[in-house]
Amino acid sequence: MSILIKNGRIVTATDDYVADIFIDGETISAIGKNLPMQADRTIYATGKLVFPGGIDPHVHLDMPFMGTFSSDTHETGTRAALHGGTTTVIDFVLQKQGHSLKEALADWNSRARGTTVGDYSFHMAVTDFNENTKAEIREMVEEEGITSFKTFMAYKGALMIDDSQMIGLMQEVKKQGGMVTVHATNGDVIDYLVAKHRSEGKLSPLYHYLSQPEVTEAEASGRFADMADYTGCPGYIVHLTCEGALNAVRNATRRNQKVFVETCIQYLILDASLYENEAEGAKWVMSPPLREKKDQQTLWAGINQGLVQVVATDHCPFMWEQKLMGKDDFSKIPNGHPAIENRMELLYSEGVHKGRITLNKYVEVACTNPAKIFGMFPRKGAIAVGSDADIVIFDPEERHMLSAGTHHMNVDYSGYEGMELTGKVKTVLLRGTVAIDDNTCLVDKGYGQFIKRNKVSGKI
Ligand SMILES: [Zn+2]
Repeated sequence: MSILIKNGRIVTATDDYVADIFIDGETISAIGKNLPMQADRTIYATGKLVFPGGIDPHVHLDMPFMGTFSSDTHETGTRAALHGGTTTVIDFVLQKQGHSLKEALADWNSRARGTTVGDYSFHMAVTDFNENTKAEIREMVEEEGITSFKTFMAYKGALMIDDSQMIGLMQEVKKQGGMVTVHATNGDVIDYLVAKHRSEGKLSPLYHYLSQPEVTEAEASGRFADMADYTGCPGYIVHLTCEGALNAVRNATRRNQKVFVETCIQYLILDASLYENEAEGAKWVMSPPLREKKDQQTLWAGINQGLVQVVATDHCPFMWEQKLMGKDDFSKIPNGHPAIENRMELLYSEGVHKGRITLNKYVEVACTNPAKIFGMFPRKGAIAVGSDADIVIFDPEERHMLSAGTHHMNVDYSGYEGMELTGKVKTVLLRGTVAIDDNTCLVDKGYGQFIKRNKVSGKI
């Protein structure tokens, strides 16, 4: 099967020009003006933007958490992602403390293999670093193509590792050619504040926010950067939300260090005033919590300064009924928010359309940098000869409204209900196949492939 995309405005992280793209099989085989090839199908893209498929490197699909599971499966989550122009996601495998990485991977494979619609990969979350775990790192990198290892500096007793484990993990991961990523918040301080608020009968969603002040994230981000600097291990901070944390990274650059930073779309757009709504605040209970307006300004600036390289989602949806598990106690609200489908359109509308970032920067942080940082470039994240034909055709003018009534995520509310956006995904190709056309998904469960990733250097 061959496809010719005619006359679209091709936008990459560095280029912006009008041309045709010829796709033969799963990859791009030619790009140029007025290509002479005859294709099985021609898609006319005049007036449309044509950019690489989005990559969301931070999603939690079908994840066991607080006695329940996140409500999007690998099937529904990757399908929703495709509808929103995201062709590849990286999900998190969580090691259970006292168990091996291999057991965790088998568990995730049992839910994900053969069920995804879009392409996917895994990060391995190391929650129990010991001699056995250490011996498995090499196998993950060499055999499984899993080259990033997630750590938690919070959630003591379930997910958190201490600093001695962190240093040991960093040394081994560096040796094997991987990267350590981190949920950087100070778990001990947060646990103290949660217990204090509960003992005082302060149980509304607002106290979720007040239990995770900016300093808990700033301190842990700085500590993580210090340990990454000491070990020389490539480091990446997930879902960074605030000025204090970004300044910790900025400080690290003064000693010539590079720490990658991801923020998530909600931290750029939503703010902590939503927690004052006691009845609905649970919709935005996530960790770290939403922050202040000044933090949004810091994050947009950080993108433009090159300090923030990636905009992801931390997509972890729960039905409203699941959220109600914590209606009398904020600490029992399952943490997470749905955005896998909305990220690309939200970032375009709020970022590019409103003049906060350039179109090239948009492609860089939503598509290309995640591929480069996590060892998938130039197969993914590029419009180039030889790259996978993962392509979004986007109408930059169309206005539409976000709503749980029309989205494809398996969750019964939207964090952005009624929000009006400019710019809409029209057609999405995944490995040379039209996956989405005019709001309809044309590929089946099982079409998505697991993407084995290359070793990483910590440089892009
Ligand atoms: Zn997460």
